[in-house]
Amino acid sequence: MSSYFRPAVDAMEGYIPGEQPKPGTRILKLNTNENPYPPSPEAMAVLRNLDGELLRRYPHPYANTFREAIAQALEIPLDWIIVGNGSDEILNLLIRACGEGDHRQVVYPTPTYVLYKTLAAIQPATVLEIPYGENYQLPLDALLNAQGAVTFIASPNSPSGHLVSNDDLRRLAAGLSGVLVIDEAYIDFANDTALPLVREFENVMVTRTLSKGYSLAGLRLGFGIAQPKLLSGLFKVKDSYNIDAIAALMGAAAMADQTYKNQCAERVKHSRQHLSQELQKLGFKVPPSQTNFLLVTPPRENAEEIYLGLKARGILVRYFNHSGLEKQLRITVGTDEQNQTLIEALIDLI
Ligand SMILES: *Cc1c(COP(=O)(O)O)cnc(C)c1O
Repeated sequence: MSSYFRPAVDAMEGYIPGEQPKPGTRILKLNTNENPYPPSPEAMAVLRNLDGELLRRYPHPYANTFREAIAQALEIPLDWIIVGNGSDEILNLLIRACGEGDHRQVVYPTPTYVLYKTLAAIQPATVLEIPYGENYQLPLDALLNAQGAVTFIASPNSPSGHLVSNDDLRRLAAGLSGVLVIDEAYIDFANDTALPLVREFENVMVTRTLSKGYSLAGLRLGFGIAQPKLLSGLFKVKDSYNIDAIAALMGAAAMADQTYKNQCAERVKHSRQHLSQELQKLGFKVPPSQTNFLLVTPPRENAEEIYLGLKARGILVRYFNHSGLEKQLRITVGTDEQNQTLIEALIDLI
């Protein structure tokens, strides 16, 4: 045997997450789109008041406390919700349940979230990447022609920050015989949602996460919303106890505290506007964003140099070393104070 691993695993590249400095390091982290504000005080109170009895027993297999809180907050039925260890797990379940080889492909417009490719490579399922058009026009005809077993649309998209219109998503859902996944990781910072499509189409799933809007990236909680028929296959594939008891309880508290989440999101959106103006004053190109980050082009298009210069000053932003994005930087919106530190470093650099 020449390898311990399946050929697909030998052939793939592992996913490379954004850099995570050690806790306590004096680094301004604007590279992985975390929320600059702390999690809901209600969620933190759950953690402080935890009873050991909760941990002696196995957790609920579907994390029903958390599901109930989601159902209430979003006004959807409980059995239209599947909970995952981060929304990444939901994306993984979708590919594992639906994708296979050349005849059940995974399709998505690029540039977008790189993890779709990694997850498909593990399955393995063949990937078809279709480039976005000018100004991030959705390549609707090509996506329809491809007829993927799973089609992923991140909306708002990363790293571009744009929102795909519900009209385009409806055309896609109506014309696809496979599953259309609308990845709404950044929806808390956007001004529309595709959630109504879940009622209209049985092949549509909307995925959400508590990592961005709810400041709980470390807890690992996400969920998918779809009609029960689409969820049935995913429930078969998931680990029996994929959500731990602590996460389920904290997640329920965070979900019930919509007021706090919305307040933080409003502050981030306000800071996004201000940061965008300040960057434009420095000559950066800054397209509008419906997320908690900006994809910017520096005036001299020397993105890598600026990325390294900021890093040397203890500020991390995201530089993508792949085609089409070499001239751009993705900058997470921080607090006004953090953004000001960034602006001062940039003035110093350019
Ligand atoms: C952050 C992000 C996710 C993953 O979120 P987790 O819930 O932390 O796994 C999914 N999709 C996109 C586009 C993201 O940016």
